Amino acid sequence: MSNDRLNLNQQSNGDYKVHENGCIYYPTQNYDDLGYYSSCSSAVTAAMQKHPYKKINGCKTCSNPCHTS
Ligand SMILES: [Zn+2]
Repeated sequence: MSNDRLNLNQQSNGDYKVHENGCIYYPTQNYDDLGYYSSCSSAVTAAMQKHPYKKINGCKTCSNPCHTS
């Protein structure tokens, strides 16, 4: 299980990234605490449900299986 956070700073490509705790890019300010998840896909899905108008993606560094853009 990891505590996942959505970085609310928009990336240059328009994405908002989900990070797992321990990631070097784990946000410490301007983030939404998504809670604890056993996989990045469930964390990304939860982020999409909470933020239906944002383009959500997994972080390439900590959630590479969920990174598509
Ligand atoms: Zn990350």
